[in-house]
Amino acid sequence: MDALSSMATVAGYKAVIIGAAQIPRMFPLLMTAAGTVPPAKVLVLGAGVAGLQAIATARRLGAVVSSYDVRAAAGEQVKSLGATFLEVDLGGIKTEDAGGYAVELSDEAMDRGRALIAEHAKTTDIIITTAQVPGRRAPLLITEEAVNGMRRGTMVIDLAGATGGNCALTKADETVERNGVTIIAPTNLAATVPVHASQLYSRNITAFLTPMIKDGELQIDMSDDVVGPSCVTHQGVVVNKRVAALLS
Ligand code: NAD
Repeated sequence: MDALSSMATVAGYKAVIIGAAQIPRMFPLLMTAAGTVPPAKVLVLGAGVAGLQAIATARRLGAVVSSYDVRAAAGEQVKSLGATFLEVDLGGIKTEDAGGYAVELSDEAMDRGRALIAEHAKTTDIIITTAQVPGRRAPLLITEEAVNGMRRGTMVIDLAGATGGNCALTKADETVERNGVTIIAPTNLAATVPVHASQLYSRNITAFLTPMIKDGELQIDMSDDVVGPSCVTHQGVVVNKRVAALLS
């Protein structure tokens, strides 16, 4: 049923393909008679569904990949894909909620992550950012100063553009250039891979609606764990708490 996961999978894959096509380097390590070509370095910020797919795709193309996430559980998943997990000492604070999603962190914890990212960004060719905190603005992970410290030709692909972006210079659906660094933030990458995005999405919708149809009739059971929380309005009332809070 999970349409977000489906679209994040497609976006994570396509972000790497876009980056690989645009940077002035190749991805794999090549040892040729004309010399050695070092592998591209890719940094993935946020190792959820989109981030893990980006890591896997970049690894398949031969890049050296590292990744950062505030959830400790993401570390093992990152390593299992052959990437390096960048660790920050956050002092044992709570970084995820009961559902496995990240929570908003203190300024001090965020600063520690930002300092580590800025250091790694100096020698990285492509940075793909996917960090989100449900219901909040996307966390700011790449400061303007960090962008100024990047090499010319570096590319930042910000997949959090629709919720404010993970990079201070991000402009949703626009290309920003700063000292030879390119920052893009496409908000609908899934639409650029329409066959598989539609195939996955149609399956999601079918799986979501099928249990609601009983004896050929649509039956809305608001006590159902899936139906209730995913409903926005019912019988003329805004029943979703987050939407109701925003409207008021
Ligand atoms: P998301 O889109 O909400 O966020 C993307 C990533 O950004 C997350 O890994 C999050 O921890 C990270 N992040 C948030 N703040 C950050 C910060 N300040 N610095 C660095 N990283 C930060 O997350 P998602 O892709 O939906 O995945 C969240 C979790 O839910 C994962 O554990 C994922 O595997 C799980 N999940 C499971 C299923 C399933 O079907 N079992 C489906 C979807 C997601």
